[in-house]
Amino acid sequence: MEKRDYYEVLGVSKTASDSEIKSAFRKLAKKYHPDVSKEPDAAEKFKEAQEAYAVLSDKDKRAQYDRYGHAAFQGAAGNGQGGYDFSGFDFSDIFSDIFGSGFDFDFGGGNSRSKTRPTKGRDRLIHVDLTFEEAVFGCKKDIKLEVYDVCSECHGDGGHGKKTCEYCHGSGFVTQEQRTLFGTFMSKTSCPHCDGDGTTFETTCKKCHGLGKIKAKKELEVKIPAGVNTNDQLRIPGKGEAGSNGGPNGDVYLEFKVAEHKLFIRDHNDIYLKVPITVTEAMLGCKKEIPTIYGNVVLTIPAGSNTNDKHRLKGKGIKDTNSSHVGDMYVLLNVVIPKKLSRDQKKLVESLAKTKLDDESEFKSFSRFVKENDK
Ligand SMILES: [Zn+2]
Ligand SMILES: [Zn+2]
Repeated sequence: MEKRDYYEVLGVSKTASDSEIKSAFRKLAKKYHPDVSKEPDAAEKFKEAQEAYAVLSDKDKRAQYDRYGHAAFQGAAGNGQGGYDFSGFDFSDIFSDIFGSGFDFDFGGGNSRSKTRPTKGRDRLIHVDLTFEEAVFGCKKDIKLEVYDVCSECHGDGGHGKKTCEYCHGSGFVTQEQRTLFGTFMSKTSCPHCDGDGTTFETTCKKCHGLGKIKAKKELEVKIPAGVNTNDQLRIPGKGEAGSNGGPNGDVYLEFKVAEHKLFIRDHNDIYLKVPITVTEAMLGCKKEIPTIYGNVVLTIPAGSNTNDKHRLKGKGIKDTNSSHVGDMYVLLNVVIPKKLSRDQKKLVESLAKTKLDDESEFKSFSRFVKENDK
Protein backbone atom coordinates (compact mmCIF):
# COMPACT_ATOMS: atom_id res chain seq x y z
CA MET A 1 0.00 0.00 0.00
CA GLU A 2 1.27 3.43 -0.94
CA LYS A 3 2.13 5.59 2.06
CA ARG A 4 -0.31 8.48 2.31
CA ASP A 5 0.74 12.10 2.33
CA TYR A 6 0.77 13.54 5.88
CA TYR A 7 -1.33 16.54 4.88
CA GLU A 8 -3.85 14.23 3.25
CA VAL A 9 -3.93 12.06 6.40
CA LEU A 10 -4.85 15.04 8.55
CA GLY A 11 -7.08 16.50 5.82
CA VAL A 12 -5.39 19.90 5.79
CA SER A 13 -3.75 21.99 3.07
CA LYS A 14 0.01 22.33 2.65
CA THR A 15 -0.22 25.86 3.99
CA ALA A 16 -2.21 24.91 7.10
CA SER A 17 -1.35 26.82 10.27
CA ASP A 18 -0.19 25.10 13.48
CA SER A 19 -3.61 25.50 15.03
CA GLU A 20 -5.34 24.04 11.96
CA ILE A 21 -3.03 21.01 12.17
CA LYS A 22 -3.67 20.61 15.88
CA SER A 23 -7.41 20.85 15.51
CA ALA A 24 -7.40 18.38 12.58
CA PHE A 25 -5.44 15.88 14.68
CA ARG A 26 -7.76 16.36 17.66
CA LYS A 27 -10.73 15.47 15.47
CA LEU A 28 -9.04 12.34 14.14
CA ALA A 29 -7.83 11.29 17.59
CA LYS A 30 -11.37 11.55 18.94
CA LYS A 31 -12.67 9.54 16.01
CA TYR A 32 -10.03 6.82 15.84
CA HIS A 33 -8.68 6.38 19.34
CA PRO A 34 -8.77 2.57 19.75
CA ASP A 35 -10.44 2.87 23.15
CA VAL A 36 -13.24 4.93 21.67
CA SER A 37 -13.65 3.91 18.07
CA LYS A 38 -15.75 1.01 16.86
CA GLU A 39 -14.32 1.11 13.34
CA PRO A 40 -12.35 -2.00 12.35
CA ASP A 41 -9.26 -0.16 11.07
CA ALA A 42 -9.29 2.45 13.87
CA ALA A 43 -5.91 1.43 15.28
CA GLU A 44 -4.23 1.82 11.85
CA LYS A 45 -5.90 5.16 11.20
CA PHE A 46 -4.99 6.37 14.66
CA LYS A 47 -1.34 5.45 14.18
CA GLU A 48 -1.28 7.12 10.80
CA ALA A 49 -2.70 10.33 12.29
CA GLN A 50 -0.23 10.24 15.20
CA GLU A 51 2.68 9.89 12.79
CA ALA A 52 1.45 12.73 10.61
CA TYR A 53 0.86 14.98 13.58
CA ALA A 54 4.26 14.21 15.16
CA VAL A 55 5.92 15.44 11.97
CA LEU A 56 3.71 18.36 10.95
CA SER A 57 3.46 19.87 14.45
CA ASP A 58 7.26 20.18 14.59
CA LYS A 59 8.57 23.16 12.60
CA ASP A 60 11.88 21.53 11.61
CA LYS A 61 10.41 18.15 10.78
CA ARG A 62 7.64 19.76 8.76
CA ALA A 63 10.23 21.69 6.71
CA GLN A 64 12.17 18.46 6.12
CA TYR A 65 9.01 16.69 5.03
CA ASP A 66 8.01 19.54 2.70
CA ARG A 67 11.39 19.27 1.04
CA TYR A 68 11.98 15.54 0.80
CA GLY A 69 8.60 13.92 1.45
CA HIS A 70 8.61 10.57 3.25
CA ALA A 71 12.21 10.09 2.18
CA ALA A 72 13.16 12.65 4.86
CA PHE A 73 12.66 10.03 7.59
CA GLN A 74 13.72 6.95 5.72
CA GLY A 75 16.45 5.06 7.45
CA ALA A 76 16.02 6.97 10.66
CA ALA A 77 13.08 4.76 11.54
CA GLY A 78 14.87 1.75 10.23
CA ASN A 79 12.06 0.66 7.96
CA GLY A 80 11.85 0.66 4.21
CA GLN A 81 8.38 2.17 4.29
CA GLY A 82 9.86 5.50 5.35
CA GLY A 83 7.60 5.92 8.34
CA TYR A 84 8.53 8.49 10.94
CA ASP A 85 9.24 6.89 14.30
CA PHE A 86 7.01 8.86 16.66
CA SER A 87 7.55 6.62 19.70
CA GLY A 88 9.44 9.40 21.48
CA PHE A 89 6.76 11.99 20.81
CA ASP A 90 4.81 13.23 23.82
CA PHE A 91 1.10 13.20 23.07
CA SER A 92 0.08 13.48 26.71
CA ASP A 93 -0.81 17.18 26.49
CA ILE A 94 -3.10 16.86 23.55
CA PHE A 95 -4.71 13.66 24.86
CA SER A 96 -5.41 15.01 28.29
CA ASP A 97 -6.80 18.00 26.45
CA ILE A 98 -9.17 15.79 24.49
CA PHE A 99 -10.01 13.05 26.92
CA GLY A 100 -9.47 14.78 30.23
CA SER A 101 -6.56 14.12 32.53
CA GLY A 102 -6.37 11.08 34.74
CA PHE A 103 -6.74 8.56 31.94
CA ASP A 104 -3.90 6.20 31.75
CA PHE A 105 -3.74 5.28 28.11
CA ASP A 106 -1.63 2.37 27.13
CA PHE A 107 -0.38 2.83 23.62
CA GLY A 108 1.05 -0.63 23.38
CA GLY A 109 4.49 0.46 24.51
CA GLY A 110 3.91 -0.96 27.96
CA ASN A 111 3.32 1.17 31.01
CA SER A 112 6.60 2.34 32.44
CA ARG A 113 5.01 4.36 35.21
CA SER A 114 5.03 1.51 37.67
CA LYS A 115 4.79 2.64 41.24
CA THR A 116 6.80 -0.32 42.46
CA ARG A 117 10.01 0.85 40.77
CA PRO A 118 12.77 1.44 43.38
CA THR A 119 13.52 5.12 43.64
CA LYS A 120 16.30 6.94 45.45
CA GLY A 121 15.27 9.13 48.37
CA ARG A 122 15.54 12.90 48.13
CA ASP A 123 18.79 14.73 48.82
CA ARG A 124 18.96 17.32 51.57
CA LEU A 125 20.95 20.55 51.56
CA ILE A 126 22.02 21.93 54.92
CA HIS A 127 23.72 25.28 55.48
CA VAL A 128 26.55 25.24 57.98
CA ASP A 129 28.22 28.32 59.49
CA LEU A 130 31.93 28.00 60.24
CA THR A 131 34.43 30.28 61.91
CA PHE A 132 37.56 31.20 59.95
CA GLU A 133 39.63 28.76 62.04
CA GLU A 134 37.14 25.88 61.72
CA ALA A 135 37.23 26.24 57.93
CA VAL A 136 41.03 26.55 57.76
CA PHE A 137 41.90 23.64 60.03
CA GLY A 138 38.81 21.44 59.64
CA CYS A 139 36.56 20.45 62.51
CA LYS A 140 33.91 18.09 63.72
CA LYS A 141 30.31 19.24 63.63
CA ASP A 142 27.13 17.70 64.92
CA ILE A 143 24.53 18.22 62.24
CA LYS A 144 20.93 17.88 63.34
CA LEU A 145 18.30 17.11 60.73
CA GLU A 146 14.86 15.59 60.38
CA VAL A 147 14.49 13.08 57.54
CA TYR A 148 12.13 10.33 56.52
CA ASP A 149 13.73 7.06 57.53
CA VAL A 150 12.72 3.50 56.67
CA CYS A 151 10.09 2.36 59.20
CA SER A 152 11.72 -0.04 61.61
CA GLU A 153 8.41 -1.81 62.32
CA CYS A 154 7.57 -2.89 58.74
CA HIS A 155 11.03 -2.42 57.14
CA GLY A 156 9.57 -0.05 54.59
CA ASP A 157 6.76 -2.29 53.37
CA GLY A 158 4.00 -0.23 54.99
CA GLY A 159 2.22 -3.30 56.33
CA HIS A 160 2.38 -6.93 57.43
CA GLY A 161 1.28 -10.08 55.62
CA LYS A 162 1.70 -9.35 51.93
CA LYS A 163 -1.05 -10.76 49.71
CA THR A 164 -2.30 -10.41 46.15
CA CYS A 165 -4.68 -7.51 45.70
CA GLU A 166 -8.22 -8.90 45.52
CA TYR A 167 -9.47 -5.95 43.56
CA CYS A 168 -7.15 -6.19 40.55
CA HIS A 169 -5.99 -9.79 41.08
CA GLY A 170 -2.40 -8.71 41.20
CA SER A 171 -2.22 -6.90 37.85
CA GLY A 172 -2.10 -3.44 39.38
CA PHE A 173 -4.63 -2.26 36.80
CA VAL A 174 -8.38 -2.08 36.62
CA THR A 175 -10.47 -1.66 33.49
CA GLN A 176 -13.15 0.93 33.87
CA GLU A 177 -16.01 1.98 31.71
CA GLN A 178 -15.77 5.70 31.09
CA ARG A 179 -18.63 7.80 29.86
CA THR A 180 -17.46 10.93 28.13
CA LEU A 181 -18.75 13.42 25.62
CA PHE A 182 -17.42 11.17 22.90
CA GLY A 183 -19.15 8.02 23.98
CA THR A 184 -18.50 5.14 26.32
CA PHE A 185 -15.19 3.40 26.28
CA MET A 186 -13.09 1.15 28.41
CA SER A 187 -9.95 2.46 29.99
CA LYS A 188 -7.18 0.91 31.98
CA THR A 189 -6.32 2.76 35.16
CA SER A 190 -4.01 2.13 38.04
CA CYS A 191 -5.74 0.03 40.73
CA PRO A 192 -6.94 2.44 43.44
CA HIS A 193 -6.97 -0.35 46.00
CA CYS A 194 -3.28 -1.26 45.88
CA ASP A 195 -2.02 1.90 44.16
CA GLY A 196 -0.85 -0.15 41.20
CA ASP A 197 1.35 -2.45 43.25
CA GLY A 198 -0.76 -5.57 42.71
CA THR A 199 -0.32 -6.48 46.36
CA THR A 200 -1.82 -5.34 49.62
CA PHE A 201 -1.26 -6.22 53.28
CA GLU A 202 -3.28 -8.12 55.86
CA THR A 203 -2.68 -5.26 58.26
CA THR A 204 -1.43 -1.75 57.68
CA CYS A 205 1.63 -0.85 59.73
CA LYS A 206 0.52 1.08 62.80
CA LYS A 207 3.80 2.90 63.21
CA CYS A 208 4.05 4.49 59.76
CA HIS A 209 0.36 4.21 58.73
CA GLY A 210 1.31 2.40 55.53
CA LEU A 211 3.84 4.91 54.28
CA GLY A 212 6.83 2.64 54.94
CA LYS A 213 8.82 5.51 56.36
CA ILE A 214 8.67 7.78 59.35
CA LYS A 215 10.09 11.18 60.08
CA ALA A 216 13.03 10.86 62.41
CA LYS A 217 15.38 13.32 64.08
CA LYS A 218 18.97 12.46 63.29
CA GLU A 219 22.28 13.76 64.44
CA LEU A 220 25.27 13.26 62.18
CA GLU A 221 28.78 13.72 63.43
CA VAL A 222 30.59 15.09 60.40
CA LYS A 223 34.30 15.59 59.95
CA ILE A 224 34.75 18.75 57.93
CA PRO A 225 38.07 18.70 56.06
CA ALA A 226 40.64 21.48 56.40
CA GLY A 227 40.53 24.21 53.78
CA VAL A 228 36.81 24.46 52.98
CA ASN A 229 35.52 27.82 51.90
CA THR A 230 32.20 29.65 51.54
CA ASN A 231 29.84 27.92 49.04
CA ASP A 232 31.86 24.69 49.10
CA GLN A 233 29.66 21.63 49.43
CA LEU A 234 30.40 18.39 51.22
CA ARG A 235 28.41 15.30 50.23
CA ILE A 236 27.48 12.78 52.90
CA PRO A 237 26.18 9.78 50.98
CA GLY A 238 23.11 7.86 52.09
CA LYS A 239 22.09 10.16 54.94
CA GLY A 240 19.21 11.90 53.12
CA GLU A 241 15.58 10.85 52.85
CA ALA A 242 14.77 7.13 52.70
CA GLY A 243 14.22 5.67 49.23
CA SER A 244 11.00 4.02 48.10
CA ASN A 245 10.44 0.36 47.19
CA GLY A 246 13.92 -0.64 48.27
CA GLY A 247 15.64 2.26 46.50
CA PRO A 248 18.72 3.80 48.14
CA ASN A 249 18.61 6.74 50.53
CA GLY A 250 19.24 10.24 49.26
CA ASP A 251 22.38 12.15 50.22
CA VAL A 252 23.01 15.06 52.56
CA TYR A 253 24.92 18.03 51.22
CA LEU A 254 26.50 20.52 53.59
CA GLU A 255 27.05 24.00 52.20
CA PHE A 256 29.44 26.21 54.13
CA LYS A 257 29.44 29.86 55.01
CA VAL A 258 32.77 30.90 56.49
CA ALA A 259 32.93 33.94 58.78
CA GLU A 260 35.52 36.65 58.09
CA HIS A 261 38.57 36.95 60.30
CA LYS A 262 39.22 40.30 61.95
CA LEU A 263 42.75 40.55 60.49
CA PHE A 264 43.43 37.77 58.01
CA ILE A 265 41.94 38.22 54.55
CA ARG A 266 41.45 34.99 52.66
CA ASP A 267 41.88 34.64 48.90
CA HIS A 268 41.32 30.98 48.00
CA ASN A 269 44.22 29.28 49.80
CA ASP A 270 46.29 32.42 50.31
CA ILE A 271 46.07 34.79 53.25
CA TYR A 272 46.74 38.54 53.18
CA LEU A 273 47.64 40.54 56.27
CA LYS A 274 48.14 44.30 56.54
CA VAL A 275 50.91 45.12 59.02
CA PRO A 276 51.29 48.68 60.34
CA ILE A 277 54.87 49.99 60.78
CA THR A 278 56.15 53.41 61.89
CA VAL A 279 57.95 55.90 59.63
CA THR A 280 61.28 55.23 61.33
CA GLU A 281 60.81 51.46 61.09
CA ALA A 282 60.16 51.95 57.38
CA MET A 283 63.23 54.14 56.93
CA LEU A 284 65.66 52.25 59.11
CA GLY A 285 64.32 48.72 58.72
CA CYS A 286 63.35 46.46 61.59
CA LYS A 287 62.39 43.00 62.73
CA LYS A 288 58.65 42.48 63.32
CA GLU A 289 56.69 39.74 64.98
CA ILE A 290 54.00 38.72 62.53
CA PRO A 291 50.97 36.54 63.37
CA THR A 292 50.24 33.63 61.02
CA ILE A 293 47.58 30.94 61.32
CA TYR A 294 50.37 28.63 62.50
CA GLY A 295 51.64 30.98 65.24
CA ASN A 296 53.90 34.04 65.22
CA VAL A 297 56.99 34.41 63.02
CA VAL A 298 59.66 37.13 62.88
CA LEU A 299 59.88 39.04 59.60
CA THR A 300 62.87 41.20 58.65
CA ILE A 301 61.68 44.44 57.10
CA PRO A 302 64.47 46.11 55.11
CA ALA A 303 65.39 49.78 55.41
CA GLY A 304 63.59 51.98 52.90
CA SER A 305 60.32 50.04 53.01
CA ASN A 306 57.09 51.52 51.71
CA THR A 307 53.34 51.16 52.13
CA ASN A 308 52.04 48.17 50.10
CA ASP A 309 55.46 46.49 49.95
CA LYS A 310 54.63 42.81 49.84
CA HIS A 311 56.45 40.02 51.68
CA ARG A 312 55.65 36.41 50.90
CA LEU A 313 55.64 33.85 53.70
CA LYS A 314 55.76 30.59 51.77
CA GLY A 315 53.51 27.80 53.01
CA LYS A 316 51.87 29.93 55.68
CA GLY A 317 48.54 29.93 53.86
CA ILE A 318 45.69 27.41 53.89
CA LYS A 319 45.91 23.74 53.05
CA ASP A 320 44.00 22.78 49.93
CA THR A 321 40.97 20.53 50.57
CA ASN A 322 41.69 18.23 47.64
CA SER A 323 45.48 18.11 47.48
CA SER A 324 48.58 18.42 49.59
CA HIS A 325 49.18 21.96 48.32
CA VAL A 326 49.39 24.69 50.96
CA GLY A 327 48.83 28.33 50.09
CA ASP A 328 51.07 31.27 51.04
CA MET A 329 50.68 34.28 53.26
CA TYR A 330 51.37 37.81 52.05
CA VAL A 331 52.31 40.59 54.41
CA LEU A 332 51.40 44.04 53.11
CA LEU A 333 53.18 46.90 54.86
CA ASN A 334 51.28 49.98 55.90
CA VAL A 335 53.55 52.90 56.88
CA VAL A 336 51.61 54.95 59.40
CA ILE A 337 52.51 58.67 59.48
CA PRO A 338 51.89 60.11 62.94
CA LYS A 339 49.18 62.79 63.09
CA LYS A 340 50.65 64.52 66.14
CA LEU A 341 54.31 65.21 66.99
CA SER A 342 55.79 66.36 70.29
CA ARG A 343 57.89 69.54 70.30
CA ASP A 344 61.12 67.50 70.37
CA GLN A 345 59.96 65.21 67.59
CA LYS A 346 59.02 68.19 65.46
CA LYS A 347 62.52 69.68 65.89
CA LEU A 348 64.09 66.37 64.89
CA VAL A 349 61.93 66.05 61.80
CA GLU A 350 62.63 69.66 60.82
CA SER A 351 66.35 69.10 61.02
CA LEU A 352 65.84 65.93 59.00
CA ALA A 353 64.01 67.97 56.38
CA LYS A 354 67.05 70.19 55.96
CA THR A 355 69.11 67.19 54.86
CA LYS A 356 68.92 65.96 51.30
CA LEU A 357 66.20 63.32 51.51
CA ASP A 358 64.93 63.42 47.92
CA ASP A 359 67.89 61.75 46.25
CA GLU A 360 65.67 59.42 44.24
CA SER A 361 65.13 59.16 40.48
CA GLU A 362 61.39 59.37 41.01
CA PHE A 363 61.77 62.78 42.66
CA LYS A 364 64.13 63.96 39.91
CA SER A 365 61.88 63.09 36.99
CA PHE A 366 58.93 64.58 38.79
CA SER A 367 60.62 67.94 39.47
CA ARG A 368 61.83 67.99 35.86
CA PHE A 369 58.25 67.70 34.69
CA VAL A 370 57.13 70.48 37.07
CA LYS A 371 59.72 72.82 35.49
CA GLU A 372 58.76 71.91 31.92
CA ASN A 373 55.12 72.43 32.73
CA ASP A 374 55.72 76.00 33.98
CA LYS A 375 54.88 78.15 30.95
ZN1 LIG B 1 5.82 0.82 59.09
ZN1 LIG C 1 -4.97 -3.82 43.16
